[in-house]
Amino acid sequence: MTAPISANLYDLLAARFPADRRASCFILSNGTTVSYGELEAGAAHVAGRLVTEGVRPGDRVALQAEKSPESIMIYLGVLMAGAVYLPLNSAYTPAEVEYFLGDAEPAAFVTDPPTWVDEARRHTPLSAAVAREASDLASLIYTSGTTGRSKGAMLTHGALAANALALHEAWGFTSDDVLLHALPIFHVHGLFVALHCALLSGCPMVWLPKFSDDEVLAGLGRATVMMGVPTFYTRLLANPAFTRERAAAVRLFISGSAPLLPSTFAEFEARTGQRILERYGMSEAVIITTNPLDGDRIAGSVGYPLPGVELRIGGGEAAGVIQIRGPSVFSGYWRMPQKTAEEFTADGFFLTGDVGHRDPDGRVWISGRAKDLIISGGYNVYPKEVELVLDELPGVVESAVIGVPHPDFGEGVVAVVMGTGDEAAIVAEARRQLAAYKAPKRVIFVDELPRNTMGKVQKNRLREAHAGLFGA
Ligand code: AMP
Repeated sequence: MTAPISANLYDLLAARFPADRRASCFILSNGTTVSYGELEAGAAHVAGRLVTEGVRPGDRVALQAEKSPESIMIYLGVLMAGAVYLPLNSAYTPAEVEYFLGDAEPAAFVTDPPTWVDEARRHTPLSAAVAREASDLASLIYTSGTTGRSKGAMLTHGALAANALALHEAWGFTSDDVLLHALPIFHVHGLFVALHCALLSGCPMVWLPKFSDDEVLAGLGRATVMMGVPTFYTRLLANPAFTRERAAAVRLFISGSAPLLPSTFAEFEARTGQRILERYGMSEAVIITTNPLDGDRIAGSVGYPLPGVELRIGGGEAAGVIQIRGPSVFSGYWRMPQKTAEEFTADGFFLTGDVGHRDPDGRVWISGRAKDLIISGGYNVYPKEVELVLDELPGVVESAVIGVPHPDFGEGVVAVVMGTGDEAAIVAEARRQLAAYKAPKRVIFVDELPRNTMGKVQKNRLREAHAGLFGA
């Protein structure tokens, strides 16, 4: 009998590394580079150290640190050793970290990757990746958890491989690409979506520790693809040095993790002549839908399901909860079988919690999170519908519509507006364009909306801050 071919994700990635391992993988801000050969050797030493220190296949290895190439050596070394990679947001406080360590019970916890990798170099490198099945866990990603306990989404080698291959194909990556990588690497966007596309192409990355206008503007001169959250694009547009010429070498700008405002899409096209490609994903499934590489990219739509993803709208209504099934969907929440069971239908579709619809072309449009739905006086109000109206009004940069307790209506519609304006005029205009029950009862002006590191507006914080507005 021949030995089964291992489904270890590391083997898939390493098989695509450039034949000449001297080729650059990371181009750092200080002008130095780290080659594919150095990445590969680093990963093998990390795996060697983990194995000698007693880390077994299936054990978790946690990492909380600033972004560095050594973090990626550790990620790949963990895969090689057959262990499960658990990245933690570098902003988490010690008390928060304690919860994750208690829940995941990792066998090792790394907080200083450069030193840890340095010490690993004293260990014999692992000569080959530990064999894994497609159904074995590769990574545990804790959801940002705006309500209740943060849940660990279990992602397998098979799920990550399927998604990476589909994206590599969908976005036309080749070894000639250079990816501008300014995203954090404790989240699926930077860690899986961006990194895997580059590694599968064997192409270099302009590797920035975080988004900074100057470094991104400089990096755009040599990059061919940029991936970002919407805030990256609004920040670039706010900088006059971001011109059509600056963007000209880039063949593809991709946005995700939070909704891209149609106004940002339009302004970006006017400035650069390029249409941002928006895609939709989540920790539990990596990427779900994408606008096309060739073909129309439409502002406000997240495009079509990736090949292999089955997508349907719950309730069969015009708008409902998006349900998905396919090879890259996670295999459940870590140690939460009950919660996992609640989030899957009997026929195996995952309830994403995002509300949306499909148009006759099959394109997907997201109208918000199910838990952000407002029920006012018994009527359903979809915040996105109201936000789209408010965002067009003079003085409004961006709006976030929430429901807060109201003595008569159960919930009252409130608009938190980034910008300036006249409350009564905004309410009147909303009532002119929308059914009266959808119009905000109050408008609150702010300089900035609260966002998490991935650029998502934190509506839970807005709901808490304004909970007493109607004295309910
Ligand atoms: P996370 O698991 O932290 O990546 O968050 C996933 C959530 O981000 C999804 O369930 C969506 O609510 C939201 N999201 C991601 N991409 C988009 C997008 N392009 N448009 C709208 N919402 C998005």
